[in-house]
Amino acid sequence: MTFDLTSEQDQLRDAVRALGRRYGHGYFVEKARAGEHTTELWAEAGRLGYLGVNIPTEYGGGGGGITELAIVCEELAAAGCPLLLLVVSPAIAATVIARHGTEEQRKRHLPGLADGSAKIVFAITEPEAGSNFHRLGTVARRDGDDWVLNGRKCYISGVDEAGHVLVVARTEDSATGKLKPALFIVPTDAAGLTRSKLDMEIVSPENQFLLYLDDVRVPADALVGESLDAGLPALFSGLNPERITVAAMGAGTGRYAIERASEYTATRKVWGGRSIGSHQGVSHPLAHAAVQVELARLMIQKAATLYDAGRDLEAGVAGNMAKYAAGEAAALAVDTAVQVLGGAGMTTEYGVATLLGAVRAGRIAPVSREMILNFVAQHVLGQEKSY
Ligand SMILES: Cc1cc2nc3c(=O)[nH]c(=O)nc-3n(C[C@H](O)[C@H](O)[C@H](O)COP(=O)(O)OP(=O)(O)OC[C@H]3O[C@@H](n4cnc5c(N)ncnc54)[C@H](O)[C@@H]3O)c2cc1C
Repeated sequence: MTFDLTSEQDQLRDAVRALGRRYGHGYFVEKARAGEHTTELWAEAGRLGYLGVNIPTEYGGGGGGITELAIVCEELAAAGCPLLLLVVSPAIAATVIARHGTEEQRKRHLPGLADGSAKIVFAITEPEAGSNFHRLGTVARRDGDDWVLNGRKCYISGVDEAGHVLVVARTEDSATGKLKPALFIVPTDAAGLTRSKLDMEIVSPENQFLLYLDDVRVPADALVGESLDAGLPALFSGLNPERITVAAMGAGTGRYAIERASEYTATRKVWGGRSIGSHQGVSHPLAHAAVQVELARLMIQKAATLYDAGRDLEAGVAGNMAKYAAGEAAALAVDTAVQVLGGAGMTTEYGVATLLGAVRAGRIAPVSREMILNFVAQHVLGQEKSY
């Protein structure tokens, strides 16, 4: 493992940073408040190839890995634009389709994901199952050549912006009669698929939805992969990229908040000639948050490197740890930034309190801190499963 980025990765980081700064947090908040999406930023990032960095070149992507996509996620967030749809569309959906889709599915979907003209969101969470994916109740039934899907999903991000949703359902295994997971690429305008927007306390241009699937009929080729056996590996293949990129978004958000706060505390003077940042009661919490963010970044780099090297099991442990560390660090950084900014911290103008909801959610989604601790306790420390 090297601590240096390649020159291409360095150039990517600089270019994405420049793009993010041209838009900035003011743009992100303005879009959120207006109930609009970051359409211009998404389109430009797509045109410049940043949304498809991890997609194979033969399908219009950059041919890089999750390391490159994590750079894109982190730098946009560090510019004040944490885009959750980067995690669901290029990280989860594109990875699942590239690794487990049929050739026809790769040709149909990946070029649009790569240039940003198409988005595919991801629906696994259900009201009854929650963190326990083994209890998923959305069922796919075979009817002639078609599949018919029934169930409910919740908190699904970006359905209003996407052409398709990757639905995690269960099918009955004809051999054993047991239910097993299967993924379906479902058009968001399919008959029987309805949605209602959830009111969330997060300042974000991206929305969450309840999804209702009532006899949603899709053709056989909506099933990801050549057969039902692709379901489980396809589902797992999306999880490491999800954790690593969401962690990168958290680290970028933490960097953004610390930068805003440091600029302020270095110049704000209320006790004669000294800046408030000269008081250790102000600078130490900021420095502590900076250490936590940097530690998380190191773990993200390790997880992405392992993932890109094809070491999926080790990447799973590192990715979970990175997601945990970044979630905690981002929440700490934003909270600390608000505190050291004083009253200014709670204004819209200074652009940090606007991130409180997002970083709080980052400790819950896409996998909660408790479920990561369960994973580490069980798989790293060898403890008995408690649930
Ligand atoms: C902003 C946002 C965007 C989201 N986007 C998507 C999306 O695009 N697609 C999608 O499918 N989902 C999405 N989600 C859903 C998210 O993945 C879930 O909220 C998350 O997995 C937790 O599930 P839950 O809300 O049902 O919590 P629950 O499972 O009800 O858990 C509630 C609390 O109990 C704890 N808990 C539960 N079981 C245990 C246990 N065994 N041990 C210890 N603690 C436990 C949890 O950690 C949590 O703190 C999103 C959520 C948010 C907030």
